[in-house]
Amino acid sequence: MTQRMNGLRCLVTAAGQGIGRATAQMFAREGATVVATDRDAALVADLGGFGLDVLDDAAVARVVADHGPFDVLFNCAGFVHQNTALTATDAEWDFAFALNVRAMWKCMAAVLPGMIERGRGSIVNMASAASSVKGAPNRFLYGTTKAAVVGMTKAVAADVVARGIRVNCLCPGTVDTPSLGERIAANATASGGLEAARAAFVARQAMGRLATAEEIAALATYLAADESAFVTGQAIVIDGGWTL
Ligand code: NAD
Repeated sequence: MTQRMNGLRCLVTAAGQGIGRATAQMFAREGATVVATDRDAALVADLGGFGLDVLDDAAVARVVADHGPFDVLFNCAGFVHQNTALTATDAEWDFAFALNVRAMWKCMAAVLPGMIERGRGSIVNMASAASSVKGAPNRFLYGTTKAAVVGMTKAVAADVVARGIRVNCLCPGTVDTPSLGERIAANATASGGLEAARAAFVARQAMGRLATAEEIAALATYLAADESAFVTGQAIVIDGGWTL
């Protein structure tokens, strides 16, 4: 099979586990050179990667200066708070916007000059179906910040569309990843046990199962590669029918 990402240099954040890891691996299988980063360096060591906390602006700029220019950015780092407008704290608000929104902006701002100079590039941001697409219970800050990712994606796409650069975002439903396991565990008591908590997440997907990280990686790969050359500014839902 032809490799779809030959010659592309890709920066992946949060490549240590879950969707970021599956995507870094798929990019590499498709012929890309992948710079796999994660806050936890140990998680990306086997991918030849290194530590990068996207909350550290200077570190982000340094990675791009030292390892760029990049053809592709997969802006994957994000955190899921479980809260409502009545339970969220100021600290959670600040953290959610810093990681889920501001850090994505800073990563885009770091790679864009190199993309503009070379007249090409594809940025894939990680949003969620729980965003401007759909409200989900107990996901106040998550839905709020992921909606901001959708808006930010469209705004940046509009600014760079004439320069050969595309910007899209992914809106997954529930994906079977290590952090989902933590959310299931956190809901276990309220749901009547671990199995019941997991079943409640599965039940949200009309297909009756969770997504695999590889299924989301396949969409990220499509958006990163030239086969999606006419697609920009889109928030693409991949949710097993959650929003049917
Ligand atoms: P995960 O939550 O299991 O793992 C997240 C990874 O991000 C970890 O390796 C962690 O070390 C890294 N990380 C955390 N903070 C970081 C930081 N400041 N800088 C760099 N790396 C950092 O992975 P996941 O569930 O695949 O989630 C990845 C992204 O996908 C997130 O943005 C999440 O909101 C989004 N998402 C997940 C789901 C889901 O159901 N799992 C659904 C929709 C969207």
